[in-house]
Amino acid sequence: MEADQPGDMTHSQEPSMQNELNPWLAAETRFNKAARLLEMDEGLQKVLRTPSREITVYIPILLDDGRLEVFTGYRVQHSIVRGPGKGGIRFAPDVSIEEVRALASWMTWKCAVANIPFGGAKGGVICDPALLSQGELERITRRYTAEIIEFLGPEKDVPAPDIGTNERVMAWLMDTYSMHTRQTTTAVVTGKPLDLGGSRGRREATGRGCMIVALQALERFGLRPENTRVVVQGFGNVGGMAAMLLARAGFKIISVIEYDGAVYNSAGLDIEALMEHAKETGSVVDFPKAENMGRDEALFLECEVLLPAAKENVITSKTAPHLRCRIVCEGANGPTTAAADEILQNKDIFVIPDILANAGGVTVSYFEWVQNRQGFYWNEELVNTRLEEIMVNGFRDLMKYSGKHQVDNRTAAYMLALDRVAFATKLRGLYA
Ligand code: GLU
Repeated sequence: MEADQPGDMTHSQEPSMQNELNPWLAAETRFNKAARLLEMDEGLQKVLRTPSREITVYIPILLDDGRLEVFTGYRVQHSIVRGPGKGGIRFAPDVSIEEVRALASWMTWKCAVANIPFGGAKGGVICDPALLSQGELERITRRYTAEIIEFLGPEKDVPAPDIGTNERVMAWLMDTYSMHTRQTTTAVVTGKPLDLGGSRGRREATGRGCMIVALQALERFGLRPENTRVVVQGFGNVGGMAAMLLARAGFKIISVIEYDGAVYNSAGLDIEALMEHAKETGSVVDFPKAENMGRDEALFLECEVLLPAAKENVITSKTAPHLRCRIVCEGANGPTTAAADEILQNKDIFVIPDILANAGGVTVSYFEWVQNRQGFYWNEELVNTRLEEIMVNGFRDLMKYSGKHQVDNRTAAYMLALDRVAFATKLRGLYA
């Protein structure tokens, strides 16, 4: 289960907030700032910011009750300069082309910061998986895949799970592609079930990556996990795994915030028991070993680490002034709006930006793709060691960049990414 918006303050429909909450405008704002500081040529800026390809498809599906429905799907390939397009597919009712475009560009910058050989892409289908049967979800996945099939492939574009999709969906995608190409092609998608070429450690990878960079940040503050209080917003694959791994590493998870409320325990929540409770009841609220709390109240708790791990637009110009954390570790994509960046900076909050903090998922996707192409599978220890190496290197590169250019972490991450993609673009030259 993924959290929706965390607090009532983020529900504002005021027109002034609409631009702030537009994820593509947020991506543009960060891009423009980094490009300006890099003194990047205007033409090159145009090339780098514009997606390579945007595909819209309409997916007619026979529903279980006999009705016909048409769903809308997107796949945006933002960049294929450093390697094939890479990025998840989101199934959610509020998917929009602007969101998918922003998410695709964030994948480009994320893969560049992690320094893995992929471009960036993202897909989405406007649907509510909670209201669809397994059969309906399978039909949507297969038809969506068939509609974009010529643009997919291990060397073209490699999807993965995101909000609302999972290993099961990736298996259907792999099968549909393989049936069309008349050969089993595991490397066309990552995040698959282990028995179909998935990688050990993939499910935990995004959460594990968050933990690795959070530990790096703690060192800079001279903090130890035992005296680190963490508030986790979102308890889906990313937030749930991050909370579990951080708790196992000794961190005190004092609150978990979900779409319908939050729970709090000053001594630290028993995360495994909370997971059981959420599985049984469908919610974190009313967990016997904690007290219920409002979502805003929990978001504004005093803590060392705030880990937003659900969707975009959680830390906004409305919520940011009230935060009482020292570190924000962005497990979600785009949880902080561009307007909130400056507020966090003024409050001296150390931000581990999404394009580094949540890169663990795509990094182990890269390992999965490598293993599929080699036909040789690694043990979990090797996956985790290599993940750690990439995340720590990413963190160090970021620190060097922010030090050298005297900029905040987010700006440094974008500058680093743009620099790498610009370099590859120039090396390849233009085909015309
Ligand atoms: N959806 C994940 C992300 O946003 C994973 C993407 C992938 O593994 O390709 O990073």
